[in-house]
Amino acid sequence: MVLSIFRKQRTPRATTAPKPRAADGEILLETVGLTKTYAGADGELPVLAGIDLQVRAGEVVALLGKSGSGKSTLLRCLAGLVPASSGTIAYRDEPLKGANPGTAMVFQTFALLPWLTVQQNVELGLEARRVPADQRAEAAVRAIDLIGLDGFESAFPKELSGGMRQRVGFARALVVEPGVLMMDEPFSALDVLTAENLRGELMELWESGQFPTRAIVLVTHNIEEAVLMADRIVVLGSRPGTIKETFHVDLDRPRDRNSAAFEDLIDRVYRVMTGRTKETRIPGRPDGLELDKRTTANTPLPLASVDGLSGLAEMIAHQGGSCDLADDLGLEVDDMLPLVDALELLGFAKVSEDDILLTEQGSAYAGADVQESKTIFAEAAMGAPLVRLITTSLRQNPDNALRAGFFRDVLAHHYTSEQVTQQLETATDWGRYAELYGYDADPQEYRLDNDQATPVPQS
Ligand code: ADP
Ligand code: MG
Repeated sequence: MVLSIFRKQRTPRATTAPKPRAADGEILLETVGLTKTYAGADGELPVLAGIDLQVRAGEVVALLGKSGSGKSTLLRCLAGLVPASSGTIAYRDEPLKGANPGTAMVFQTFALLPWLTVQQNVELGLEARRVPADQRAEAAVRAIDLIGLDGFESAFPKELSGGMRQRVGFARALVVEPGVLMMDEPFSALDVLTAENLRGELMELWESGQFPTRAIVLVTHNIEEAVLMADRIVVLGSRPGTIKETFHVDLDRPRDRNSAAFEDLIDRVYRVMTGRTKETRIPGRPDGLELDKRTTANTPLPLASVDGLSGLAEMIAHQGGSCDLADDLGLEVDDMLPLVDALELLGFAKVSEDDILLTEQGSAYAGADVQESKTIFAEAAMGAPLVRLITTSLRQNPDNALRAGFFRDVLAHHYTSEQVTQQLETATDWGRYAELYGYDADPQEYRLDNDQATPVPQS
């Protein structure tokens, strides 16, 4: 069962081979009403809610979403590595009981065993499935050959470049000929050119008919990668992760980045990802709420550093104060969205469907010298609920100081502990820069900045 497909010879880089997958259309993976929650301090925190998803033979499905939207969790649920909290997950109509026998996973960080050679790393997957040694070796050699690693069989991971290591990751997953190949951001740890090359080779192989799996599920935060590779793009929204929209990608392969259809799809996906379309505008986004209705629960701080958001403000200012989000800035979505959200939350920018426009305050901020910009930032940051909460709590405390644990407890009612840490790190960065308050790692204490430590009039 394991060795059949690898017997075929590798053909030269084919371009127009027809898709040979026989049972195209059969549902391989299916979730119905899949929900996943994790325990938080204040009860269960929903990570995935009501996910109905099908993966059919013959398709490449991309799960696309901002970081934290639950993509990896969904992939792990599909692979049977974490159980669903409710709903069902089935592989070829069989509900999962533990690890999914029809999937193999490629990870972002390669996850190779350093003391094993390339060949031994690739054989690992087969050992777990109790394939006899001679068959293992044969299958591993074929997988290694298929993925362009021939000649590296006896090398150790540390001798390989990142791209070659990820090839080992692919070979190790492909050698078991899984029904569905699962990939969690497999190119994001690689440099741009290596990633591009590997993506291209993988898609050629998929198209050539030699690919030993029947479907691919790709997790990515990169819109262009999704449009380049997928037949179907499933966009996940955050908190909790739900399917926001599904796009069918009807573009011939290899796909032409410069074609109008490609660019048009990128723009459409972008709009859904950023939540700018009327239908998907959700309450709780910084721009969706009146200032006085914002709370730490409904308006988390975007995870943007002051340097990052200032940099973006300056880039927009250089473009004349407004620009097209998708085209003009050339930044990756995952890098840019928190910065855009931060500028909006601070009232420094407004975002329409495609464009971002600096407000008067935003232009002043971008053009100001260091001291001025700190003053402008301090005023704006008080509109961010967590910064405001920390500042006002410190002002009301007689010592003008409070343990970080106090704010942790407040936030733990609405966030996972990882998110609490991220929220506080961002609030610390913003508050320090604004000179509103400082933070001492030892003894984990927030303290009002000296200039701020005047008592507020109590009403
Ligand atoms: P993505 O892959 O889209 O970045 P993840 O699936 O890794 O998102 O995480 C989604 C959310 O679930 C995040 O808020 C994360 O903090 C939370 N989460 C993930 N794994 C766990 C876990 N084991 N325990 C608690 N929370 C978790
Ligand atoms: Mg992830």
